[in-house]
Amino acid sequence: MSATAVTDRHDTPVDLVIAGSRCVATMDADVGDVDGGWVAIADRRLVGVGTGSPPPAAATLDATDCLVTPGLVNTHHHLFQNLTRAFPPMTDKPLFGWLQSLYPRWRAIDEEAAYVSAWVGLAELAMSGCTTSTDHLYLHPRGAGDLLGAEIAAAVDLGVRFHPTRGSMSLSEKDGGLPPDDVVADDEDILAACEEAVDRHHDRAHGAMVRIALAPCSPFTVTEELMVRSAELAERLDVRLHTHFAENAEDDDYSIERFGCRPTDYLDRTGWMTDRTWLAHCVRPDDREVGRLGTAGVGVAHCPSSNLILSSGIAPVVALRRAGVHVGLGVDGSSSADSGSLWLEARQAMLLAKLRDGAGSITARTVLEMATLGGAACLGRSRELGVLTPGAVGDVAVWSLTGPAFAGAIADPIEAWLRCGPVSARHTVVAGQIIVHNGRLTHPALDERLATHRRVSQRIQSED
Ligand SMILES: [Zn+2]
Repeated sequence: MSATAVTDRHDTPVDLVIAGSRCVATMDADVGDVDGGWVAIADRRLVGVGTGSPPPAAATLDATDCLVTPGLVNTHHHLFQNLTRAFPPMTDKPLFGWLQSLYPRWRAIDEEAAYVSAWVGLAELAMSGCTTSTDHLYLHPRGAGDLLGAEIAAAVDLGVRFHPTRGSMSLSEKDGGLPPDDVVADDEDILAACEEAVDRHHDRAHGAMVRIALAPCSPFTVTEELMVRSAELAERLDVRLHTHFAENAEDDDYSIERFGCRPTDYLDRTGWMTDRTWLAHCVRPDDREVGRLGTAGVGVAHCPSSNLILSSGIAPVVALRRAGVHVGLGVDGSSSADSGSLWLEARQAMLLAKLRDGAGSITARTVLEMATLGGAACLGRSRELGVLTPGAVGDVAVWSLTGPAFAGAIADPIEAWLRCGPVSARHTVVAGQIIVHNGRLTHPALDERLATHRRVSQRIQSED
């Protein structure tokens, strides 16, 4: 693009300009990439992208030799799991054994643990260019306190955009589920807690910093009735729905044995085949199921590192996208990924798709679409998040493309961004606020929070 597409605010300075870039990848199909572009933010929103002289601004961020993208959107996480990262009892197990080795530790979570794990996990994500994250908080042990409120407080303190889900488990070992009895609740209590969470925290405004979705943990941890009633409640409250889906062969086998059908049929019969739903993993749909998911307009949170480390399989993301599924990226919980870098997930997604479907099946740009436009669609916020267009939120990631790792990568900044590296964000901006500056978190409490996190991790890991 050569023309300047700007703001009508030439008379008054904007709040922030990000200037001098090598390229602004707007992800807006009508605008495309803006070589040498700048981005302007005012009143927490993006107000212009252009070339030439940027508008006057109260503050300027230097983006020399950088790729500028929309802030990345993380569509699946369990932030509390960074308390049991790289924990030896679980490192050699596939999904079900992995879960059962960790439940006894996780049930010791409390408000302090929820707060500090969310704070540190969201800080880690911001340093990888992520400006919006969801969290699937399905663990609510009896007497643990207000864990959802604690993690929202952490996100607010840090200044990142947050989409936590009110997760749930209602099927314990004695009823044929996977979790122990003291971390599950009954369906009535769960549904009441879901409604209260939406009442208290869900902001429906454009540019909202906090939204809530409903998220039964998985078909093997909740009753069928809770799946049905959660979908009905989400419809009534007009919020989104999330769960784990078709993650590995054990998941398929459980569905056939317990429900007498494959996971996609189970979704259908519980009222979840709707564009209100986004699903974590979706590793194992067959061709016919891929088509059904696309027709329903569901979203999928693709979590490649987790799928690799738990040996779950390779999700068919190229086919899912072709079928019309909104595919976003997720880091998944930090006891299975165990890294919380969304850039790393983007690179893994590109590598795995090439391995599965051929070298020409996907490009770095396609994966950037997944990390931005796809994630926004999963959260029901297309044109608001994941795109640099006037009126969208002021969420931006700035990536340096210099140094030995990028020498020679001069022809295509987006391919350079994902094929070279590893890369962290040089700057991360959320709603016009600088959260990461020159690779460092701007919040002063990082060291203090890390010390608390270490103490809490020691406590949780000593449980059994
Ligand atoms: Zn998960």
